[in-house]
Amino acid sequence: MRERIGDDALLRFSRHIMLPEIDVAGQEKLLASKVLIAGLGGLGCPAALYLAAAGVGELHLADRDEVEVSNLQRQILFGDADVGAPKVNAGAARLNTLGAPTRVMAKACVLDDNSLPDLLTQVDLVIDGTDNFATRFAINRACVEARTPLVSGAAIRFEAQLSVFDSRDPTSPCYSCLYADADADDEALNCAENGVAAPLVGMVGSLMALEAMKVITGAGDTLKGTVLHVDGLRGEFRRFALGPRQGCVVCGSRFK
Ligand SMILES: [Zn+2]
Repeated sequence: MRERIGDDALLRFSRHIMLPEIDVAGQEKLLASKVLIAGLGGLGCPAALYLAAAGVGELHLADRDEVEVSNLQRQILFGDADVGAPKVNAGAARLNTLGAPTRVMAKACVLDDNSLPDLLTQVDLVIDGTDNFATRFAINRACVEARTPLVSGAAIRFEAQLSVFDSRDPTSPCYSCLYADADADDEALNCAENGVAAPLVGMVGSLMALEAMKVITGAGDTLKGTVLHVDGLRGEFRRFALGPRQGCVVCGSRFK
């Protein structure tokens, strides 16, 4: 296996490789992995930065929006010069400055039931940092259908939560098991109307990158079956167990 990773990569990723949970084999898995970053916002930006720096082989950036001045407070891929530019283009340019071996694909598309199945054929894992229920439900449906692991996070004001939904595992819940009663049209809880603390999304986006790294390498235990809730105002992290829900419209059929 060792001959597949060159001397440059051995040095560049040496701080990963010296971790016994990752080692050369884990770094090779990262270098061979393909990740979709759904939504290049407060969560997607740090997740993409860390996954690129960590040596993920391909990052597919999907977002249809352009950079706005009000994004710059927390969306750390972008600066003043990017205002007005498509987020995926500005984000890809920034990620390419890292010099990591990551191939970055920019996809300025809408994420819905039409576009997602094709996007998922190109990746091994999805990071969902989108900002509305309709898109989150569509991503979840597509991930369950394709058996693609999904790392999902959300943040508003000073609160956030994240989890891992891995439909390759029949004991894993899906996103819809968690949000059974949420209205797909309810976009009331968004950052534009409620605000969000910048370091909170940085932290949660980084935790999402860490979960992705664990799914890809097999290191440790992921948050599959657990929701991690973060209360930024109190500095509190709480874990909640989450199992598959029998009546779930997306994944419930496996219980029949
Ligand atoms: Zn479900």
